Amino acid sequence: MTRALVEECERVGHALVEVAESGEPGKVNRSLVEAIASHGLFDRLFSDNTVTATDLCAMRQGLARVSTESETAFAVQGLGAIPIHLTGQAALKGRVIPEVRRGGTVAAFALTEPGAGSDAGALVTTAERDGDGFRLSGEKAYISNAPEADVYTLFARTTPDAGSRGITAFVVTSDMDGLSGEHIPMLSPHPLGRLHLDGVFVPGENVLGQVDNGFRVAMQTLDLFRPSVGAFALGMAEAALRIATSHATTRTAFGAPISDFQGVSHQLADVRLAIESAELLVYSAAAAHDDSDTETLTGKAAMAKLHATETAQLAVDTAIQVLGARGLEADSTLAHLYLEVRAPRIYEGTSEIQRNIIAREMFNGRI
Ligand SMILES: Cc1cc2nc3c(=O)[nH]c(=O)nc-3n(C[C@H](O)[C@H](O)[C@H](O)COP(=O)(O)OP(=O)(O)OC[C@H]3O[C@@H](n4cnc5c(N)ncnc54)[C@H](O)[C@@H]3O)c2cc1C
Repeated sequence: MTRALVEECERVGHALVEVAESGEPGKVNRSLVEAIASHGLFDRLFSDNTVTATDLCAMRQGLARVSTESETAFAVQGLGAIPIHLTGQAALKGRVIPEVRRGGTVAAFALTEPGAGSDAGALVTTAERDGDGFRLSGEKAYISNAPEADVYTLFARTTPDAGSRGITAFVVTSDMDGLSGEHIPMLSPHPLGRLHLDGVFVPGENVLGQVDNGFRVAMQTLDLFRPSVGAFALGMAEAALRIATSHATTRTAFGAPISDFQGVSHQLADVRLAIESAELLVYSAAAAHDDSDTETLTGKAAMAKLHATETAQLAVDTAIQVLGARGLEADSTLAHLYLEVRAPRIYEGTSEIQRNIIAREMFNGRI
C-alpha cells in the first residue's frame, strides 16, 4: 500500500517536472502549486480525516525521487495549512482550506525568528490584545514561501517571560496592513524570506487553538511532519543512488566496469544499507504517529529525521564521487541534489537538536 503510493507520487513527480523547472529559482512557483493540486495531492492532505504520517511520508518520498521543487512546494503548503486544518475554527477553515487545497492560495509556517531558531520558545514577536483581536509586531526569518505566501500560520508571544507557554498561533494573511517582507536568496533554489510585522491587526477568530497554547499547535504539526522530512531525504538518497549504480555498471576503467572495483562497490553498498535502515526508521516513526504511540513517537521521529537526512547527504556525496567529473556538471541532477540535500539537516530541528532529543528520550526510558 505504502509502496504503491510512493510509486504513484513518483509518477506524479514526472508529470510535474516541466512546470517545476519552469519556475524562477528562489521564488514561489504558483503554476506548480496549482499543478500539484490538479493531481489531487492536496486533497489527500486536507481530507476530512487529515493525512496519516505514513501517507505523507510516501507522498514526499515519491515526489523527491524525481522533483525536489515539487516536493518542497507540496510539503510547505502542508506545513503552512495543516495547523489551520487541525485547529482552526470552522468559519476560518471554510475560508482558507478549500483555496489551499485548490492550489489558489499559497501557505507558509512562520515560527523562526532572527533570535530564535533551535530555541523556538525564545521567540519575541509580540501579540498584544486590541479590542476583539491582537496587534502583532516583530520579525520572522527563513520562512519558506515568504514573503510571497497568501496565508501564514504565524507564532507570536502573548505572555512575556513565559517561554514556550506564552506563545499563540495566528492565521495572518498577506493583505493585512503592516505586513511586509523580502526574499533571502539561499544556496538551494528554495523560495524563502523574511517577514516584518508592524502592528498587524489579527482578529480573534484567527487564533489557532487556545491563547498561550500555540507551541502545542506547532509541535502537533511538527510531530506529523518530522518523519516526512526523513522521507523527503530518502527520496533524494534513492535518486542519487540510482544514478550512481547505473553509472558504475556502464562506465569502464582499466578494462572493467567500475562497479567491479571493491573501492566503488563497497561505497555504494554502504549507501544502500544506510537507505534501507533510514527507510525502516522513517516508516516506524510514521507508524508511531498514526498509532498515537506518544511514548516512542518523539524519539523515533528524531532518529528517523537525523538518520535519513544524514544518509541523503552521504548518498549524494558518494554518487558524485562515483560519477567523477560528470557528477559536478552544473546542470546535472546530482549537482542539483548537492544543493538541495544540505538544508534538511538544519530545518525542523538540526541534527544536533535531534541528538539532544534522542538522548533525552533514551535517558527517560521512552526509547
Ligand atoms: C531551507 C530552509 C527552510 C526553512 N523553512 C522554515 C519555515 O518554513 N518556517 C520556519 O519557521 N523556519 C524555517 N527554517 C528555519 C529553521 O527551522 C532554522 O534554521 C532551524 O530551526 C535552526 O535555527 P537557526 O538557523 O537559527 O540555528 P541556531 O539555532 O542558531 O543553531 C546554530 C547551531 O547551533 C546548534 N545548536 C543550537 N542549540 C543547540 C543545543 N541545545 N545543543 C546542540 N547544538 C545546538 C545548532 O544545531 C546549529 O548547528 C528554514 C531553514 C532553512 C535552511
